Amino acid sequence: MKSHVKAIVIGGGVVGCSVLYHLARAGWTDIMLIERSELTSGSSWHAAGGFHTLNGDPNVAKLQAYTVQLYKEIEEISGQSCSLHLTGGVMMADTPERMDFLRLAHAKGRYLGMDTELITPSEAKAMFPLMDEKNFVGAMWDPVEGHLDPSGTTIAYSKAAKKLGAEIVLRNRVVDLTQQPDGTWNVVTEQGTVHAEHVVNCGGLWAREIGRMVGVELPVLAMEHMYLLTEPMPEVEEFNKSTGREMIGVLDFKGEIYTRQERNGILLGTYEKACKPWSPVNTPWDFGHELLQPDIDRIAPSLEIGFKHFPGIEKAGIKQIINGPFTFALDGNPLVGPVQGLTNFWCACAVMAGFSQGGGVGLALSNWMVHGDPGFDVWGMDVARFGEWAGLRYTNAKVRENYSRRFSIRFPNEELPAGRPLKTTPVYDTLAAKGAQWGVSYGLEVPLWYAPEGVKDEFSWRRSTDFEHVGKEVAAVRNGVGLSEISNFAKYKVTGEGAAAWLDRMLACRLPKRGRMTLTPMLKDDGRLIGDFTLANIDDAEWFIAGSGIAEQYHMRWFEAHLPKDDSVQIEALGQKLTGLAIAGPKAREVLAKVTRADVSNAAFPFMAVARMDIGMAPCLVGRVSYTGDLGYEIWVAPEYQRAAYHALTAAGAEFGIGLFGSRALNALRLEKNYGSWGREYRPIYGPLEAGLDRFVAYGKEADFIGKAAALAERKQGGKLRLRAFIVDADDADVIGDEPIWFGGAVRGWVTSGGYAHHSKKSVAIGYVPKEIADESDGFEIELLGKRLAARIQAAPLFDVNFERMRG
Ligand SMILES: Cc1cc2nc3c(=O)[nH]c(=O)nc-3n(C[C@H](O)[C@H](O)[C@H](O)COP(=O)(O)OP(=O)(O)OC[C@H]3O[C@@H](n4cnc5c(N)ncnc54)[C@H](O)[C@@H]3O)c2cc1C
Repeated sequence: MKSHVKAIVIGGGVVGCSVLYHLARAGWTDIMLIERSELTSGSSWHAAGGFHTLNGDPNVAKLQAYTVQLYKEIEEISGQSCSLHLTGGVMMADTPERMDFLRLAHAKGRYLGMDTELITPSEAKAMFPLMDEKNFVGAMWDPVEGHLDPSGTTIAYSKAAKKLGAEIVLRNRVVDLTQQPDGTWNVVTEQGTVHAEHVVNCGGLWAREIGRMVGVELPVLAMEHMYLLTEPMPEVEEFNKSTGREMIGVLDFKGEIYTRQERNGILLGTYEKACKPWSPVNTPWDFGHELLQPDIDRIAPSLEIGFKHFPGIEKAGIKQIINGPFTFALDGNPLVGPVQGLTNFWCACAVMAGFSQGGGVGLALSNWMVHGDPGFDVWGMDVARFGEWAGLRYTNAKVRENYSRRFSIRFPNEELPAGRPLKTTPVYDTLAAKGAQWGVSYGLEVPLWYAPEGVKDEFSWRRSTDFEHVGKEVAAVRNGVGLSEISNFAKYKVTGEGAAAWLDRMLACRLPKRGRMTLTPMLKDDGRLIGDFTLANIDDAEWFIAGSGIAEQYHMRWFEAHLPKDDSVQIEALGQKLTGLAIAGPKAREVLAKVTRADVSNAAFPFMAVARMDIGMAPCLVGRVSYTGDLGYEIWVAPEYQRAAYHALTAAGAEFGIGLFGSRALNALRLEKNYGSWGREYRPIYGPLEAGLDRFVAYGKEADFIGKAAALAERKQGGKLRLRAFIVDADDADVIGDEPIWFGGAVRGWVTSGGYAHHSKKSVAIGYVPKEIADESDGFEIELLGKRLAARIQAAPLFDVNFERMRG
């Protein structure tokens, strides 16, 4: 064993071996994988070996497609077969709602370049004759599905990596990790200590324990999972003989079941409702190549549905039930990337579908380590998408919820209840008493809308029970004044003698003068977006940044990685140490004027001004800006004063009929201003010109801000895409995001978000199209729930075109 290497990968499951292979392929050959036992000694060896490309997150789906394509490459390099069976598979819908889900998935697949097809139950039965097609209303066929040999595949990755120069050390547990002052690591193993510049946690079932070695509690939990294997079945052999083909894979939403041919019989696995965490607190280090005790009672309800839907299987004898543990994060997607607060400590864990995702995870992580950027949009699996709120118990509740509804539909207006409420603000009870319907954002309860007594969300792909009430909230803002809670923003305080110079380098904007704010993109070295913020210069010594709440850790990781080493700049993520309220609408200034002694006239406190002032008795920081696009103010207040500020504002607003509005109304309001947001329109795959944020980039400023050269090049070359707002001829449903945009009979773009703009009475979609067609006003169609709806570009905002309301 070497004593020093560039990188150590801990764990020899399919994910560790893939990371090792990709690092070696990217040119880092001075690398070592350390495995506690033999390769595949975690969950990898007893996997069912199924793979597919579909994923709720389109970017994760792309990486899954890459994984499947990769198997030929590693077979060739390693000389080891993965026993690939590319059979294709179907997803079976048993209700019209599930069929709508498949229509949306099929449409999404179009712009991802996937070759899916909507088919009838009888067509599905022709490929899997063991089903009773009368149980279903339709299906979706995906040719890129199949199964493989899990151990063979893991070995193939490892052999390919070794051929490229990587070292693999077996039967050697990593027992501790200690960081050196220079940011490198001492990796303490049973066979001695190895020094490494980088460490990658691919510990699978033990990833949480490896996290604890460096003081991090990763939100990952292992769950027991069962699948059964039948005795050989004459029907299967007969089908193979008569068609010359293997039976396909089938996914049945109703039973949370997957099934496929395995040798001459059938494999059937379940994601049962009464699911069971394995090792909820500590994973035993002596767990090896053993299986867990099957518990047929637990999966009986799923099997009952399975045998009804697939009567051909019921008749077969069960040869074996496999019960093994594997890991999940809260939302079922992996945890990948550098861990915030640590140097050179990387994660590739919670990969619940290692044979669909392992290749893509390895590629993204190796890009990130070698080139400083994952090279794709990996937000859907970024370890930074969960904060400290995702602790052990919360993770347990959420993973169980996710597991038990693995194949369930989640409607766009559906909020999942497990582990809630966790984080709340001081006005939570007050807003709840007013009918607030809650969603959750980065662990925090946020009001979505306000329901009258007895009304609640009916989950649907279409406009639902909230529609008219959200319309009323919008009207309150546009016609008078509305109040909303905005504590879910991320808030950062920047101080120190070097603060201004540092911000000038980090952010693409021109720095605002004292008492002023500006909107600003933040760019990566390649000139693409890594953030969009409001920056406020409070008094030249203290700066305040507000940004996307879900990206707090993501952005802190970036900020910290770029802080000067001399302590001349301090940045703090304020989290819920600072809460927020906003008022907006033509009467907003009058309300504010009633509760503060400060002069808030347009002359004294114009658009984009910022100042500290009392609201009632509560000391606040107030910025004149509003995401509603109306006259409005964002009010930042310490939590102990939030209720006082709230009561002062609502009392002052009573004479103007102040109404509460939630995030759904805010969405309706911002759509008619063509405003985008982080995570939807603004993501790290778009340049500022493409995203329409170039007007906030100070291309000519003196400071050499990060990404400047690339941004200038984008401006010169024009980029590839343009963000556009569309008016859609929608009927009873509005886009939610990820719908394809058609032009000239082909899919040319995709929707990033949208909804109904109640004030303008228009269904709006925002999305990207190639720049060549971005100035065509007509001829677009947006595919929604199986229909192609006419859409036209709406270049000017629908509301307040001349900014008279916002700036007046
Ligand atoms: C019953 C069952 C069916 C499944 N079916 C499928 C399927 O059909 N398709 C699919 O894609 N996935 C399936 N999976 C999931 C799949 O097995 C996992 O996604 C995959 O195994 C994850 O691989 P990994 O490398 O992250 O973790 P693991 O396989 O758990 O590997 C982690 C490795 O790290 C080693 N390690 C841990 N700590 C240390 C340490 N301190 N020092 C040294 N070594 C250490 C362990 O010994 C282990 O070998 C299934 C899982 C189960 C249990």
